[in-house]
Amino acid sequence: MRYLSFIGGQWREGSGGAAFPTYNPATEEKVADVAQAEAADVDAAVQAAQNAYPAWRLTPAPRRGEILQRVGERLREHKEALARLLTQEMGKVLAEARGDVQEAIDMAFYMAGEGRRLLGYTAPVELPDKFGMAVRDPIGVCALITPWNFPIAVPSWKIFPALIAGNTLVWKPSPESPATALAFARVFEEAGLPAGVLNVLCGPGADLGRALVAHPGVRVISFTGSTETGRAIAREAAGKKVSLEMGGKNAILVLDDANFDLAVEAITWSAFGTTGQRCTACSRLIVQRGIAPRLKEALAAKTRALRLGDGLDPANDVGPVINRAAQERIARYIAVGRQEGARVLAGGAAASVNGRGFFFQPTLLDGVTAGMRVEREEIFGPVLSILEVAGLDEAVAIANGSPYGLSSSVFTQDVNQAFRAIRDLTTGIVYVNHGTTGAEIQFPFGGTRGTGNGHREAGQAGLEVFTEWKSIYVDFSGRLQRAQIDTEAILAAEH
Ligand code: NAD
Repeated sequence: MRYLSFIGGQWREGSGGAAFPTYNPATEEKVADVAQAEAADVDAAVQAAQNAYPAWRLTPAPRRGEILQRVGERLREHKEALARLLTQEMGKVLAEARGDVQEAIDMAFYMAGEGRRLLGYTAPVELPDKFGMAVRDPIGVCALITPWNFPIAVPSWKIFPALIAGNTLVWKPSPESPATALAFARVFEEAGLPAGVLNVLCGPGADLGRALVAHPGVRVISFTGSTETGRAIAREAAGKKVSLEMGGKNAILVLDDANFDLAVEAITWSAFGTTGQRCTACSRLIVQRGIAPRLKEALAAKTRALRLGDGLDPANDVGPVINRAAQERIARYIAVGRQEGARVLAGGAAASVNGRGFFFQPTLLDGVTAGMRVEREEIFGPVLSILEVAGLDEAVAIANGSPYGLSSSVFTQDVNQAFRAIRDLTTGIVYVNHGTTGAEIQFPFGGTRGTGNGHREAGQAGLEVFTEWKSIYVDFSGRLQRAQIDTEAILAAEH
């Protein structure tokens, strides 16, 4: 099937007429041909978004919310079909693909409700017969650049808050998951979103993203992807508002008193769910010495029992990685780990299923210490590095020593230790007695250090990137009242 760009409410071929294919990483079969957008199409899409902006900005927010509500309802109807396409295009197992779509449904309904909130505030003012308030204003055309690992959920964290706030959008999804993105966009069309409010361009390589970032008509750039790309965008986007959500190297801390069976389950899920290709995936296990031998033994047994295969088959636990390049990169990291002195406790090699697909065995690396590359760098695959420590303080120091700061978690049954960890861990998300994944859309999502640039997505915080504060002062005194200068005199004269 051929998927087209979505510009100004029309489904269009790219201006060059070319197309690029996407492949199922589990079977290596072609999933779709996708029209290849070019720089000229970026101009057309930004122009369409600019044209749509005045009317969308002035559409009352509750009405915008009704459209988002309809998008959520339609997403619910199409959930299974979207999830299946998503699994075919990027490989995650179907149960997780359904979760990916569900996150967008949750976000649609949450932001639809914002249509009747979008709260600003009033505050007392210092002069008589004067009123002050602050309201959120939309900004204009926003560029959204997204990765392949959550092809529907991550874009939804951007699209819904940006739309409810009154902005218009040009979205460039990852070239690894464009068909899923375009199927998602079709739901907005079906729900009656006016033409030009959401535009979608797909293309291979980085050129399209670069052209969008550089376009003078774009006011906001909301990016999720690797730290390397995020930093390049930050350099090229001078003068624009830029939100960056980037990589992670997330740690689970397990103390000697942890609920053992729960920790084993949660670590396995956090490390190998989505084949380890989540920004919040656990890639470091920092374990207290007393419990370490037993925990490693149980994890190794559980890891070896995970079944690799096509995500569409519910018997499989772990799908493929995204492509051959990822498979090769992960294999290189295993070699680096070995050279650094780590020992492979389980897995450790690329694999295929029925002779096909880009799989990688879920892998445990034991004997890792702070500062090794496999401890510091994001591998973005099913690889868990294991470090042993004396206690909580050392575990927290290692966890916080990471160049990234997205998510962390602690397993203990001691409330004092739990609260110390909550206080001292310096990641944007902290879990207690749960793995590092599983964020809900009503809370801020994002990270510290190399993971972000101070912004957060989701929850109320998700509105910040897509709005600007406007402060409004209404003086109904009928005279010139200068704040800070005349206040004393005016108040003295009145009393
Ligand atoms: P990537 O950085 O390779 O690509 C992300 C997007 O940027 C894609 O759409 C890509 O085409 C585009 N792009 C690439 N070069 C560009 C350039 N020079 N200018 C503009 N756009 C450009 O990342 P990926 O491989 O798609 O995704 C995996 C990464 O995403 C991991 O590092 C993961 O941790 C991160 N991620 C982070 C979060 C988060 O919220 N922190 C969530 C999901 C994924």
